[in-house]
Amino acid sequence: MQTKFNEYKKLVLNTSNEIPFTRIKNTILCTDAIKTNKKNILKYQNINQNNLDNSNSNKLKVVFHDKTFKEDYEYINSYNDLLKIIILEKNLSFIPKREKSFINSDKIIFDSDFENGNLRMVIELEELNEYDLLIRPEYGGMKTYQWFFFSVIINKPLNNGIYDNENVLKFNLINMEKDKSQFNSQCPVVMYDCSINKWSRNTFNVFCYNNGIKNEKLKNEYQSYFTLTFSFKYQYNTKYYFAYCYPYTYTQLRLYLNTLNSDIYKNYIKFGSIGFSCNDNNIPYIIITNFLSESNEISKRKCILLTSRIHPGETSSSYVIQGVINFLINPNNSISKSLRNKFIFKIVPMINVDGVIFGNYRYNLKGRDLNRMWVDPDNKFSKCVLNIKKLIRKTLKNRDIYFYCDFHGHSSKSNFFLYGCQKENVQNYEKVFMRHYQRINNNFDINNCINKINQSKIKTGRAILKNEFGIDLSYCLETSMTSYTSPIISKKYFPFSIERYKKIGNDFCLSLNNIIDESKIYSYLNENDII
Ligand SMILES: [Zn+2]
Repeated sequence: MQTKFNEYKKLVLNTSNEIPFTRIKNTILCTDAIKTNKKNILKYQNINQNNLDNSNSNKLKVVFHDKTFKEDYEYINSYNDLLKIIILEKNLSFIPKREKSFINSDKIIFDSDFENGNLRMVIELEELNEYDLLIRPEYGGMKTYQWFFFSVIINKPLNNGIYDNENVLKFNLINMEKDKSQFNSQCPVVMYDCSINKWSRNTFNVFCYNNGIKNEKLKNEYQSYFTLTFSFKYQYNTKYYFAYCYPYTYTQLRLYLNTLNSDIYKNYIKFGSIGFSCNDNNIPYIIITNFLSESNEISKRKCILLTSRIHPGETSSSYVIQGVINFLINPNNSISKSLRNKFIFKIVPMINVDGVIFGNYRYNLKGRDLNRMWVDPDNKFSKCVLNIKKLIRKTLKNRDIYFYCDFHGHSSKSNFFLYGCQKENVQNYEKVFMRHYQRINNNFDINNCINKINQSKIKTGRAILKNEFGIDLSYCLETSMTSYTSPIISKKYFPFSIERYKKIGNDFCLSLNNIIDESKIYSYLNENDII
């Protein structure tokens, strides 16, 4: 592990200092088989552009194109062709080999050739300062469209459009999939301005609407795609990033863990690996406890197991678990100390590292939803889940696992909430932790909590920890990717900030401290009417 961190320090020197991500071509992050593959092509093609209204007879102006979809590009003559592309979709069941390419536009440069990035094509709508954008399907063969992350630089005046003086651009993401978008004027899309190195919500005119492009394979009730549209003001020669939620890359995690690898924390935290992903990327694993205690004392401590980011597009979960880790390693906080003296925390902060690197939303590179692979994981398709189950079995030989939580992001609901499991013969046992959390953090939404395992969730981590390993306090924590609601004014939404996500992690530990043993749960049940 130590060697890996040293390699990593070198790697960081080559990393963008705007947002911590690594160019995909980097050889340390990717195996030989794919290290040169994820190259997006920035292609400026001045196709005969006349009148878009008569879309059947005029070619579209493609200003950005991912070469993986070569065939698409060759036949995109009209919006009818574009509709075919959106509806028929290619199956990306492999990581395709890509050609080396160069930026070719002198006016506007799109890019998503970095971790988490997933832009497929951009079409300029002439005279309007407006662009239609397509995000690509997931690597591994699955087709879900929700996560997006890309950058843009405007070098020169774009056209003679009537809005030119205002320096306003409008982007339409035209193949979004979910119908319950949380984006609106109260919760605009996040953007990063490289001239001030800051994330903001300075996008405006944000709407999400059913665009009528039908695809019967879609799961939403209309079986059609949605357009997410937003505008922003720009300055020339400044790079802007846009994303579904604040990105949190594999590089970012490694950098964060690297900062914890210091003398200040050495008595509380140890670093390890849960093994390698299907694509041979190291999956970090950390243990937090008071390592200065006598060994017989440490051996008596129960384990608390925490995992996150099994779904790679759910970036809010990474900030939340970072908040948890920050709290647990605090050298001075008395509750942090008490938790370290009481438990051994075993934490896997990013399970699906391949999916994160390649900009997938839900699946791994083998096309598997890893959170449906917990019953019988295998070496080929779900190795990381297999390795976590090995860790659980090994742990249970020496100590009990008292509590498990898997951290997720939620795309359609506000606030944050828990899914739990019912304990046999003890009514409301699982609700005690929820009640404490609700009291401590007013973004917690008790009304969205679920206290039993539905049929569709029986193969998830939470269900397996309960049903196979008998862990009663087994949870899934869902944090909105977008907003929280006002406790006072109904239908008033506020966008989540990174700090607020971390606070949820902080307050997770405070809530945990209130149930550090079963007797505390029972005494709470006796004293409170919890229904
Ligand atoms: Zn999830």
